[in-house]
Amino acid sequence: MSDIHPPLPWDFSFLEPFESVKSPDFISFLPPSPLSTPVQWGHYNHAFAEELGLGAIPPEILLPVLSGNAVLTGSTPYAVVYSGHQFGYYVPQLGDGRATTIGTLSTASMGLQTLQLKGAGQTPYSRMGDGRAVLRSSIREYLCSEAMQALGIPTTRALSLTVALDEPIYRETIEPAAVVCRVAPSFLRFGNFQFWAKLGRVDVLTALADYTINHHMPEIKSAENPYTALVLTVVERTAILMAQWQSVGFCHGVMNTDNMSILGLTLDYGPFGFLDAFDPAHICNHSDNGGRYAYNQQPAVGQWNVMQFVNAIKPILGISADQWEAFEDKCLRLYETSFYKAFMGLYTQKLGLPTSVMSEPFLKQLLQWMAIFQVDYTNTFRGFSQLQALLNASSANGLATNEAILAWKQQTLGEGCVNPEKEGLVDAWLVAYQALLLADTGVCIEERKRQMDAVNPKFLLRNYLLQEAIVQAEAGDFSEIDRLFQLMNAPFDEHPEFEAHYTQPPPSWAKALCISCSS
Ligand code: AMP
Ligand code: MG
Repeated sequence: MSDIHPPLPWDFSFLEPFESVKSPDFISFLPPSPLSTPVQWGHYNHAFAEELGLGAIPPEILLPVLSGNAVLTGSTPYAVVYSGHQFGYYVPQLGDGRATTIGTLSTASMGLQTLQLKGAGQTPYSRMGDGRAVLRSSIREYLCSEAMQALGIPTTRALSLTVALDEPIYRETIEPAAVVCRVAPSFLRFGNFQFWAKLGRVDVLTALADYTINHHMPEIKSAENPYTALVLTVVERTAILMAQWQSVGFCHGVMNTDNMSILGLTLDYGPFGFLDAFDPAHICNHSDNGGRYAYNQQPAVGQWNVMQFVNAIKPILGISADQWEAFEDKCLRLYETSFYKAFMGLYTQKLGLPTSVMSEPFLKQLLQWMAIFQVDYTNTFRGFSQLQALLNASSANGLATNEAILAWKQQTLGEGCVNPEKEGLVDAWLVAYQALLLADTGVCIEERKRQMDAVNPKFLLRNYLLQEAIVQAEAGDFSEIDRLFQLMNAPFDEHPEFEAHYTQPPPSWAKALCISCSS
C-alpha cells in the first residue's frame, strides 16, 4: 500500500450494479500482480495526469502503482466479467482477462475517470492467458489512444506506459512486458450487457443501465423511457464513431462486441491500422482471414454489433412483443441516418465545401479514383487545401492552370496517378471540384485552407512509424515514443522539420509488416 500521497477523490459508484453479485464468477477484487523484474517509464502523459488531478503525486510513487507493483491508498482494484460476439460467434464468458481496474476518480474537469492497468497479471477471467501484454502492443495502444484523442475521435485515453524490459513474455517469440494505464469515464462494453442478458439477470442489466444513465448520460435521465433513450444514444454514438473512423482511414481490426464501448469510445487497440494507400477492402488484422473487419465493412459491422446490444437490453425496455420489430427498425434506421449525416458532414469539411453543394455521387467519384490509383489516403486529403489555393482568379474560368494541376498531382498523388489511360477520371473530378470551390464565394482561400488543414491531419500514426518506435524501445531507447507522442498530439500542424520522414507512405520494408491479434 502506498500512502505517501495526498488523498484522492475515489468514486465507487461503478460497483453498485454488482452489489447483488459479489461472487468472483462475476467481479473479483484483487490487486494487480507485480512484475518480477525492474520496471521503468516508457512514457508518462504529464498533461493528462494534471487533468486527472494526479499532478501532485511524485513519479517515484506512481511508477510502481502504474506498473501494478503497488496500490494507491483508497484504491480497490478489481476485474469484471463480460461476454461477446467474437468474429460473429457468441462466446459466453470473456472478461477483464488482463485488465485490472485500479479505481475511478471524480475529477474536477472531466467527471468520473476510471483507471485501468492493461497487462497487470491474471484474473479469474484470464482463461488460458497469462494476463500480460507485450511492449509492442502496449506502445501501439498507448500512442494510438492519444493520437485518436488529438484527432478529435472519442477514445479511451492513456496515462502511462511502464516497461519491464527483462520480463519474458511468451508469444510467437519472447518479448518484453509492459503495462498501459488506460483511462475512460467507463470501460463498459456491449459485452457486459450481453453477459447478464444471457444469464437472464434482469436485475443486473437494469443496474448497469441505471449506472450508465445516472453517471455518464445525465441528459437522458428525465426522458420518458430512459432505457430506450439509452439504446438510441448508444446506436447514434456508435454510428458517428464509425463515420469518424472512416474519415481518418482508421481500421480497428477486432470489432468484436466485447471491444465496443457503451459510451461510443474507440476501445481496445489491438491490430489496428490507418490506411496508407486507399484500398477500401483493406484488412489490417492478419488473423482476420475473411475480412470481416475490413475498412469498408466497419460501418455495417458497427450496426450489427449495436443490434446485439439492443437485443441484450431488450428485457428492460418495456416494449411489447408486437412493437419490438418496429423498435428494431427504428434503431436500424437511426444508425443509418446518423452514420450518413456524420459521414457526409465529415467529408464535406475535409473537402472544404459548403454543405449545400456536396453530393454523394461526387464523393463516390473521388473515392473511386482514389481506390483505382491507390493514392495515399492521408496525404491526398491534406493536399486538397493546397489544390484550392491554386484557383486562379486571373484566368478566364478561374480554374488552376494545367501546369499547376499537373505539378499538384505529381507532388500529392505521386507519379502513379499520371496515367494516360485513367487520368481522365481524376482530371474530370478535379475540374468539377474546382468549380464547386469557385462557386463558394463565402470564404477566402487562406481561411478555407486553415479550415481544411484543421480537419485533414498531416501526421498519422502509420504502422511503420510505430514499428520504428517499437524496435528502438525493445532496445531500451524510448525517445521515438516521445517523438511520436508529441507529433501525434498536434497532427494538424505543419511541423516542417518532421515532414520528410513522418508523412511518407510506408517504405518498402514496411509493406510486409504483419499485425496480428498476438499481443
Ligand atoms: P481481445 O481480443 O484483446 O479483445 O481479448 C479478448 C479476450 O481475451 C478478453 O477477455 C481479454 O481480456 C482476453 N485476453 C487477451 N489476451 C490475454 C492475455 N494475455 N491474458 C489473459 N487474457 C487475455
Ligand atoms: Mg478486448
